[in-house]
Parts: sequence; structure tokens; C-alpha cells
Amino acid sequence: MPGKMIKLTCPVCGEPYEKNAYEHKRNVSLGRTSVCSRTCHASYMNQTETKLKQNREMLAERNAHQYREDNPNWKGGISAKSHPLKPLPEPKPDEPEDEKKGG
Ligand SMILES: [Zn+2]
Repeated sequence: MPGKMIKLTCPVCGEPYEKNAYEHKRNVSLGRTSVCSRTCHASYMNQTETKLKQNREMLAERNAHQYREDNPNWKGGISAKSHPLKPLPEPKPDEPEDEKKGG
């Protein structure tokens, strides 16, 4: 099998390297990233895994806040103690004092 080499740049170390075109094609079709060496592949996987995990945690935390009190649009789903549209019960404005006196 004639192996045609193509020039690529390693996304991990940034070094230019050559890779078998067929292999690279296969990697791309599998959604993999070609890197220059096993070492770089390992650190690439590490990086992405760490980054993905960080992103996931960050997003999870952000979402958790967003769907609660921190969200200004939150209308109070479970404990609707104070609905913004519902007027608060006001104390009676002016009791007729005459009736009190007459007691
Ligand atoms: Zn590399």
C-alpha cells in the first residue's frame, strides 16, 4: 500500500509533522484529531477531557443558578409566596374611628 504523506500541524505542540493521508482521512471521518505523536495524543485527550469536564461543571453550576432565584425572570415556580403580579394584602387603610370609640 503506497502511503501518501500529508503535512499537518500538531494541535497540541504546534509542530509540523507528516502523517499518512489515509490515516488522517480515517481519523477525520471518525471525528478524531490527528496529532504528531502518542505523547501529544495523550495530552490532547487529557486537555480536552479536562476542559470538557470543566465546561460541564461550569455550565451545570450556571444553569443551576439560572433556574432559581438568580434569574430575574424567575416567577417562583414551587414556592409562589410573592408573585410579582399579585398585590400584597394591604392593611385596612382607614378604620372608621367612630365605631371604635362607640365600643
Ligand atoms: Zn505534537
